[in-house]
Amino acid sequence: MVKRRDFIKWTGAAGIGLTAAGWSALAAADDRRTRTATTSAFPTTGIKGRVVVIGGGMGGATVAKYLRFWGGTGVDVTLIERDSAYTSSIMSNLVLNGSRTINSLQFGYGNLASRYGVKIVKGEVVTIDPVGRAVTLASGTRYAYDRLVVAPGVDFDVLPGLETAAAQAKVPHAWTAGPQTTALRNMITAMPAGGVFVMSIPAKPIRCPPGPYERACVVADWLKRNRSGAKVIVLDANASIMAEEHSFLEGFALHGVEYRPGVSINSVDAATLTLNTSEGNVRGNVLNVIPPHRAGKVIAANGLADAGGRWSNVDVLSYETRIAPGIHVIGDASATTQPKAGHIANQEAKVCADAILRLLSGRAPDPSPHTNSACYSPITFETASWLTVNFAYDPVSKTMQPVPASAGEAATRSKDNFEEMNKWFTALMGDSFA
Ligand SMILES: Cc1cc2nc3c(=O)[nH]c(=O)nc-3n(C[C@H](O)[C@H](O)[C@H](O)COP(=O)(O)OP(=O)(O)OC[C@H]3O[C@@H](n4cnc5c(N)ncnc54)[C@H](O)[C@@H]3O)c2cc1C
Repeated sequence: MVKRRDFIKWTGAAGIGLTAAGWSALAAADDRRTRTATTSAFPTTGIKGRVVVIGGGMGGATVAKYLRFWGGTGVDVTLIERDSAYTSSIMSNLVLNGSRTINSLQFGYGNLASRYGVKIVKGEVVTIDPVGRAVTLASGTRYAYDRLVVAPGVDFDVLPGLETAAAQAKVPHAWTAGPQTTALRNMITAMPAGGVFVMSIPAKPIRCPPGPYERACVVADWLKRNRSGAKVIVLDANASIMAEEHSFLEGFALHGVEYRPGVSINSVDAATLTLNTSEGNVRGNVLNVIPPHRAGKVIAANGLADAGGRWSNVDVLSYETRIAPGIHVIGDASATTQPKAGHIANQEAKVCADAILRLLSGRAPDPSPHTNSACYSPITFETASWLTVNFAYDPVSKTMQPVPASAGEAATRSKDNFEEMNKWFTALMGDSFA
């Protein structure tokens, strides 16, 4: 069992749980940044190739940075992102209790361009041509690649009753941070005393398995302190809490959260704020319905959703898809044994960048990659818990498997954990975007 001291050693600083090689690479990166921010100082590794990356989130930003940082000037990297800046979903539950602003979660692409020479293109990729090795934007512009990395995060099923934009505005999921997060915050602050906040959790796999329970805790904590008699009801399609069960059960008891496992949503009536569930109707003053997930739509639209029609199967030595040579899928959009999480997307991105550079130079990917996952969960406005696990490649099952005894979680919530959470977040985002 991992102790907190070891967890912080692995995850708290800029290494984000890296191996020794990763640590020294990051140290070199920091050194390079203090010496020069010009790409002309990058090494010439002899590796040449054009890599296009779709999506500038946790996975896409990291893979673009490390392809240049490790690959040098011969590796031409184009990052295509539909938004001007990235809004982190990590920590976005703290916007709901007012302890963070949405602006504090935004990260631009300027560093990737100026420090690493990544070419940034604002646009939405609609078509992938695996034979001609090119992608086409909605604008019609085409970009050719030798290797393509697809990191579009998740998309959501449309539940019956939520087909229109007007209905979705009344029942935000806020499971991708942005305008919906702010809208949900405004709905919470508008709740009356004695009001009811109902949230629903879809069946796994979902991004950030502890995230919904964390949200229930921070919202209930805010309501307890600001709206007398108000309460949170959690309807979970899963049979039990998916992660950090003891921390969340403690949090639920502390805040009076009503937790109902095994309840799924049939339909939503946005006009009356009523959920039709597998156990009858549930009404609230605010509904927060998190719909079932699938990979970002560019995956299925281009025939890459070979895992249950929702996700991409990948070889975890390189994250190359099983069905389209030269196309790699990382982060939430891939189907692996690792959790869908930003920390893991960052780790997968580094394994993928390393594999692509080896493949571009005629070598095989590293046969034994390691990754780790870490997550901090606020339980109140000033305390948090944490969870971590390391993964190693298992050549028999050809999957990433938890390293025995590497898994650990906080014995209890604490202020100390909350402070460490902020450090971890700064380090993780710096490793991906700075
Ligand atoms: C409330 C909440 C709390 C969370 N807390 C944690 C946590 O504590 N720890 C943790 O590790 N993870 C956490 N996560 C999960 C984490 O946010 C995701 O797992 C992570 O963002 C996945 O990274 P990604 O790169 O796959 O996708 P994303 O980060 O979502 O990035 C995808 C990017 O692709 C872009 N894009 C999509 N399609 C296209 C296209 N066709 N063309 C151009 N651009 C496109 C999008 O605009 C987006 O910028 C949390 C999530 C939520 C919702």
